[in-house]
Amino acid sequence: MNRIVIIGGGPAGYEAALVAAQLDADVTIVEEDGAGGACVLHDCVPSKTFIASSDVVTGYRDTEEFGVHSDGLEAITVDATLVHGRVRRLAAAQSSDIHAKLIKAGVAMISGSARLGEDSLGHHHKVRITPTDGDAEYSVDAGTVLIATGATPRILSDAQPDGERILTWRQIYDLRELPEHLVVIGSGVTGAEFASAYLAMGVKVTLVSSRDRVMPHEDADAAMAIERVFRTRGMQIMNNSRANAVRRQGDAVVVELADGRTVTGSHALMCVGSVPNTADLGLVEYGVAVSPGGYVTTDRVSRTNVPGIYAAGDCTGVLALASVAAMQGRIAMWHALGEAVAPLRLKTVAANVFTDPELATVGVSQQDVASGKVPAREVMLPLTGNARAKMAGISDGFIKLFCRPASGLVVGGVVVSPRASELIMPIAMAVENHLTVDQLAHTITIYPSLSGSVAEAARQLMQHESD
Ligand SMILES: Cc1cc2nc3c(=O)[nH]c(=O)nc-3n(C[C@H](O)[C@H](O)[C@H](O)COP(=O)(O)OP(=O)(O)OC[C@H]3O[C@@H](n4cnc5c(N)ncnc54)[C@H](O)[C@@H]3O)c2cc1C
Repeated sequence: MNRIVIIGGGPAGYEAALVAAQLDADVTIVEEDGAGGACVLHDCVPSKTFIASSDVVTGYRDTEEFGVHSDGLEAITVDATLVHGRVRRLAAAQSSDIHAKLIKAGVAMISGSARLGEDSLGHHHKVRITPTDGDAEYSVDAGTVLIATGATPRILSDAQPDGERILTWRQIYDLRELPEHLVVIGSGVTGAEFASAYLAMGVKVTLVSSRDRVMPHEDADAAMAIERVFRTRGMQIMNNSRANAVRRQGDAVVVELADGRTVTGSHALMCVGSVPNTADLGLVEYGVAVSPGGYVTTDRVSRTNVPGIYAAGDCTGVLALASVAAMQGRIAMWHALGEAVAPLRLKTVAANVFTDPELATVGVSQQDVASGKVPAREVMLPLTGNARAKMAGISDGFIKLFCRPASGLVVGGVVVSPRASELIMPIAMAVENHLTVDQLAHTITIYPSLSGSVAEAARQLMQHESD
């Protein structure tokens, strides 16, 4: 039997293990933290649970406009200890659900850290395991190894997190009170999400962005729409401001910018990216190709250059999303176990930024279209004209749709709205299944609904015989 050893139990590792177990393979996960990995215990699940609390506060915004008297947002108090307790409980429960599911599927779970041992003749691999409980290190044989070790927050040498006032996103849930003035360093997806959530909770937020706008890798119209909302709600956004250092000064933090200016706050949240957990895996000694940034190099079926060694998830640097990590892991197992498998396709991956409002994207980007890389027609439909949006008081947001010039095939879209993560689905379905704008436009949508605007955008892209 092909023994499979998976290093890391995050979405890449555990979803791979479930596929391997389903195919009757002998499969073991070695995980040094807990089932579900960093995704469930420290990153994605905790942050989305935290944002769920901020959404509750958002529900109390502008109630007078709806004819509902309340004491206003100022009267709302957020109990950080309770919020953080809920975050931790939910993450732990999710981790134990995944653990139980893996055990039920027949996956062996080892608590410990692993690295590659020696590659013997015929590529029978040995994995060295150091158990968490302090027992002596030992080796296990494997026909197939999946490296799924994820990533950890990047630390700047002059901004060392202390867990008290200079924090990574993994440390914020230890705070007993919400910060008075949070300086978020980094305006990528993670920085924008936390800045949005804290702002909603009534915290004074300064967002330090090294680029000329927040979320520089996202659709420019969408990012600018969200930046406008942030500013209107009182967030201070410092564009073109690179942070060089963050230092403690008594009960304050001082952020030093590259141009000599400083920003003072009560806490700093470092959101300056992640580094892959690949340094201690013995990859170079084993001959596994690694990029200069430390990411494991893989092909589209998750193979590394060494036969029998696969890699998936954030440690590969392909696309840092749980959904992609899981698919890379599954593909690795289908390939390793001789199943028919289609290579990873990133063109149809839907992604969402959980700010308020949310920003969801799928398929080709505005940049692809503007640069001429992808010939496409496009429409951008503000939600202000949508009846449901008017009723719900939604004044910011839009649906953008891209289609092929002649055939009208839907090739991408962008949604900015509350719950854009749900609203992107019909566009993702269209892109994935090669639907045309005519087909999308002919779908009868609920009235009144935000999804009605998806069909309307498609209608605007329909061409008449005479066009
Ligand atoms: C704040 C934040 C919010 C996010 N929100 C979302 C979101 O909303 N949606 C989304 O799709 N994605 C989100 N992501 C991204 C998502 O969390 C990652 O893409 C996902 O965790 C990648 O899964 P993975 O299996 O590669 O790695 P991980 O989840 O990082 O798991 C890897 C595991 O490997 C273990 N490990 C490492 N080295 C070893 C070793 N030598 N031996 C044994 N075990 C080891 C680690 O302990 C870890 O548990 C978010 C990320 C962050 C930082």
